[in-house]
Amino acid sequence: MATKRDYYEVLGVDKNASDQDIKSAFRKKAKEFHPDLNKDNPDAAEKFKEAQEAYSVLSDENKRKMYDQYGHAGVGAGGPGGAGGYGGFQGGFDAGDFDFGDIFDSIFGGGFGGGFSNFGGGGSSRSRSARGNDVLMRMDITFDEAIYGCEKKFNVDVVEECDSCRGAGGFDSETCSNCHGSGTVTTQQNTILGSFMSKTTCPECNGKGRTFKKKCSECNGKGRIKKNKRLTINIPAGINTGDRQRVSGKGGPGVNGGENGDLYLEFVVGEHKYFIRDNDDIYLEVPINMIDAITGCKKEIPTLYGNVKINIPAGTDSGDKQRIRGKGVDNKYNRHKGDMFIVFKVYTPKKISKDQKKLIDQLSKTDFDTTEISNFDKFVKNND
Ligand SMILES: [Zn+2]
Ligand SMILES: [Zn+2]
Repeated sequence: MATKRDYYEVLGVDKNASDQDIKSAFRKKAKEFHPDLNKDNPDAAEKFKEAQEAYSVLSDENKRKMYDQYGHAGVGAGGPGGAGGYGGFQGGFDAGDFDFGDIFDSIFGGGFGGGFSNFGGGGSSRSRSARGNDVLMRMDITFDEAIYGCEKKFNVDVVEECDSCRGAGGFDSETCSNCHGSGTVTTQQNTILGSFMSKTTCPECNGKGRTFKKKCSECNGKGRIKKNKRLTINIPAGINTGDRQRVSGKGGPGVNGGENGDLYLEFVVGEHKYFIRDNDDIYLEVPINMIDAITGCKKEIPTLYGNVKINIPAGTDSGDKQRIRGKGVDNKYNRHKGDMFIVFKVYTPKKISKDQKKLIDQLSKTDFDTTEISNFDKFVKNND
């Protein structure tokens, strides 16, 4: 594996970049290298993964600190395979309908070190209970779904109470014969200093005081079992690439009775054919013909919220902008309302009829040039 690139370099930001800068930079990269949009660029998927990994570290205050201090080693993403990142997600989910069993298996099996999802909990001893890891999962949504909000269904593996034994782990419970229901056993230890009585948790019943006549075969006595669940989430209007939504308790499994971690969905928003989104502002290029640009006109244009009529002033140039307040993204996620910007593009006709040619010849005999053009002509003459 090649040497890992600096995370700041990957996102193209400097070391002092603000959280917002990092978020914006990631959004840009995510759009640029999204595998679904770059089917013929074999490097895109790799670049996308790299950007996601960099973002997962730099967007987390603690991880960023560790990274600044110790480099890649500080965030457990050093060695070969460490770049696993979102590995399992790769290959692009169909929006709204995907499964991430493989990733889950690797967490389920415990001990899991990559730069990915491990942004909480972790490191638990065998006997103590510990909360499960938080899990980060990418979700593609369309431009419209992001703008207007939507309901999304998706599949995910979650460890939950076993239905067969209702979490007990077995059937027909009885008092533990080893500890007689106390949950502890007393053993005598003989040492050179004398003999001591010591109390320990009963290994038969793990301190519960009760055992089962019949172990539950469904969950192998664990009381908890991995289930593939279909979940539904409501995504508020205005979500953008890099925004996250938490689904409580659907992350990695808790250990020894600890609760599950949370699942975080991180969105990647698709593009629109005409509307261009810049945070909560919307840009729209509106083509107009030369004559309309010269004389000005009224024109119906689309917005996110239906068509509106605008006045295009006489003498409009390519690149001139018009702002329509409040017609940008009505963002319920950050409670901000953006504006819309119309950017005009003047088109010169490529084919004209004989009659039109005649009219234009007549027109060009009049004093038709602008000051900019006559000034430029003067410059050309003097330069000779
Ligand atoms: Zn069971
Ligand atoms: Zn016992």
